[in-house]
Formats: sequence, structure tokens, C-alpha cells
Amino acid sequence: MSDKYQQLRELFGEIFDLKAAANVLEWDQQIYMPPGGGSVRAMQLATLLRLAHVKLVSDEFGAALEAAEAEVASLDPDCDEVRVVRKVTRDVDKWRKVPSEWVGEFTRITALSQQAWEKARAESDFAQFEPHLNKVVELRKQYAEFFAPYGHPYDPLLDFFEPGMKTTEVKAVFDELRPQQVELVQNIAEHGAPVDDSLLHQPFDEGKQWDFGVEVAKALGYDFESGRQDKAVHPFTIGFGVGDVRITTRFNPNYLGTALFGTMHEAGHAMYGQGVKPTLDRTNLIEGASYGIHESQSRMLENLVGRSRPFWVAFYPRLQKVFPSQLGDVDLETFYRAINKVERSLIRVEADEATYNLHIMLRFEIETALMEGKISVGDLPEIWNSKMEDYLGILPPDDAKGVLQDVHWSCGYIGYFPTYALGNLMASQLWVKIDEDIPNLARQIERGEFGDLLAWLRENIHQHGAKFEPMELLQRVTGSSLSPEPYLHYLRSKYMDIYKLS
Ligand code: ZN
Repeated sequence: MSDKYQQLRELFGEIFDLKAAANVLEWDQQIYMPPGGGSVRAMQLATLLRLAHVKLVSDEFGAALEAAEAEVASLDPDCDEVRVVRKVTRDVDKWRKVPSEWVGEFTRITALSQQAWEKARAESDFAQFEPHLNKVVELRKQYAEFFAPYGHPYDPLLDFFEPGMKTTEVKAVFDELRPQQVELVQNIAEHGAPVDDSLLHQPFDEGKQWDFGVEVAKALGYDFESGRQDKAVHPFTIGFGVGDVRITTRFNPNYLGTALFGTMHEAGHAMYGQGVKPTLDRTNLIEGASYGIHESQSRMLENLVGRSRPFWVAFYPRLQKVFPSQLGDVDLETFYRAINKVERSLIRVEADEATYNLHIMLRFEIETALMEGKISVGDLPEIWNSKMEDYLGILPPDDAKGVLQDVHWSCGYIGYFPTYALGNLMASQLWVKIDEDIPNLARQIERGEFGDLLAWLRENIHQHGAKFEPMELLQRVTGSSLSPEPYLHYLRSKYMDIYKLS
């Protein structure tokens, strides 16, 4: 029994190894590599990922997949074997449409473009980045064409990050969210009791920030035996297998929020990776159900847990001990309101929960227009600034704080941004269910106990990896399909309280 399935696993294991090796190189590129290593590193990454693609679309792999499909056909449709085979089939069907040469070229160009972005952002000079981004966008347009006919040229890109989701569906969700979020933000700005967050903008020793972040990540359940933390220009999580999922954090010596909430966010991603059933290691199921589901895990820990009152009942006394001169005289409620200050701000990753999705909608509109060919890369700084004025009423002082702030486009991750907003929605939807299943959850969090929460996430989300498609998983766990309601309800009740609105 299951000979053919085992053969498929072995062949796929080799493909996984090549990708994991590429991930190690990528991690090194962002953490340690000197600038001189850039062009050769881009070639090395291109070679590994092209070889992985060649193996995946080979006749040998196709035959093994077919044999395994036949072998598992009579098994329970929900068992791991059937789901592994189904996911591999979906991936093979997709990647067969894409030439291996494209994969190599895309990998090389995006590695170079990422290095160029880093420098352009540091110097706040979009012109340096523009030729690189032009190539990336051209390659992404080619990619979309491999999947023609499509409903929208953005669909194949979106599907890469959120399997099964269509551009029109994202647009419909955003159309429902936009007026309600804008109204909430306006209500806060016009009628809310003022919130002062200057206490967060003081000098905070970086080493102490690091130590406190590690303490929090450990308490939440991030396992440093199967992970580590490093510093990066743009925080990310990357894994090479269930036993090695790493996080990165960015530190601001004059603002506490960057590293604190960034660490919780990345720990949320990493705990998902660490929680996948070990028997699924070296398969494509360990990547997680989708980027949206991934963001539901990171943004849940960052916001629903990390920006909640119960969490700081547990951790604020400890934080005050670490930073007595900055926070010794600040009471818990003042601190809680400060970390939840709603502000029309420039930087997405530091945006509060009420304005966050507006940053995403702006990017979604730009990306879809780029793919439709309605705007070109050279127009981006101007379009960015005018949309920032429309959505948030502020004008970025420079491109570093504007169009150059995110790493995604340099990596070719066009189609990724919507998953952040979807993740926010999913996190709130999951939280309603978690709250039902763990009746004294808030009390546990107030005591700094996260065991039941982690067990729930492991049982319902983490262990499965990508076994279920995102919407299927959401339906199975919550009993309902994707809905903005729980998220809007959460936002309203939280901010009405903080801003003393009625
Ligand atoms: Zn994230």
C-alpha cells in the first residue's frame, strides 16, 4: 500500500529541498550578504528555482503524480495523502503553463531588483529603482498571459497568493469595507477624545527592545529551538522546513512600536510554519493555506492579542520595569490608548487597525491599473502621492516614506497586498469562534497564558498547512464564508471605547 504515494513524496522532497536551499540563500541575501555578492547570488537563486521548476514539470514527475493519484483515489477525500496529491496536482497544472526559463529570469531579475530597491529606498530615489521595477512588471504581465484567457489580468497574480480568489471578489469586499472604514476614521478624527502617543516616541535602548520582543514571542509560543530572530530592512518570516522557521525584525531606537508589534506579527507567521504536522514536512503543504490565512495568524497576534487590554494587563508591568524612565509614570490605560492611536499616517506596517486597510486599497488600485496597462511605472510616485491625499489626507515628504516603502514590488509580489486586508477579516472571523471555544480566553491572556489559544490554532489552522484551500478552511473552522462583518464589528467596538464615542 502507498508505494506510488511514497515515490511521489520522494520526488517532491527533492523539489522542496531545492526551494528550501534557495530560501536559505535569500535569507542570507537579506541578512548578511555584502553588496558585492548581489549579481552572483541572483544567478544562484535563479539556477536553484529553475531546476526545481524543471523537475516539477518533468515527464518523470508527471508519471509519478498520475500513479499516486490512482493509488489514493479510493481513500478518504480529507486524508493527508489525497490532499497532498491534490495540492501537487494544482501546482503542476499551474506551473506547466510557465516556461522554466521564465522562472529563472524572474528569480534573477527580482533578486537584483530587491537589492536596487534597498539602495533606492535608503537614498529616497525612485529613479534608481524605476528601470528594475519596469522589468518586474513586464515579467508579471508575461506571467499573466501564460494563463490567458482570464477574467482580469490581475487574477493569475492574485491566485498565486490567494488560491481561488478573483479580482472582482476582492474589489467587492473592498467596496463594502471602504465607506465604513472611512466613516469610522472620520468619526474618530472629528469627535474622538484625543489620544496622546508621544510616550511611544522616546529613545528606547535597542538591546532592551530586542530582549523584550524575544520574551513576548516566546510567551506567545514561538519556539526558538526551531527558529531564530535577526534584523532586516523589511521584516519577514522564512522557513526551510517545520523545524527551522525564522523571523526578522526592524528596530527604531526612537519609537517602541516598530519592533514590538513587528516581532509579534512575524512570530504569528512563524508559529503557523512551526505548527504544521511534521509528517507534511518536505511537501508543498507546509507553506500554509494562503497568504491571507497566513496574515490572519500574524495580524491576530499583532492586533487582536498584542494590541488588546488583556495582553497588556499581563505584560505592561514587565515593560515598565524594562523602561522605567520612559514608562514608569504612565498608567496602563494611557499606554493602551497610545498603542491604538488612530492616525492618518504614511507607513503601512506601522498603521493602526482603523486605517490599515486604506493603505491596502490604495496599493490594490495601483496594482490592478498597472496590470491593465492604464498606468506605467514612471507614473507611480505621482499616483501614489495623489492617492495618499485622497485616502488619508496626507502627502509623503519623500519617496522613501511613499512609493518606495514596501519591499513587495521589488520581489515581484504584485497581488500580495490584498491578502493583508483579507487576513484582517479572517482573523476577526476566527477570533469570534476562538472566543466561543475558549470561554475564559481574556482571563488567560491577562495572566500571560497562551497555551489554550496556541492549542486551538494548532488544532484548527496550523497543523493542516495548505491541506485545505483558504475559503474551505475558513468554512470548516467558522462555519461561514468570508465576511467583513466580524472585522467591522470588532473595529467599531474597540475604537468607540478607546475614543469614547457613542
Ligand atoms: Zn505578514
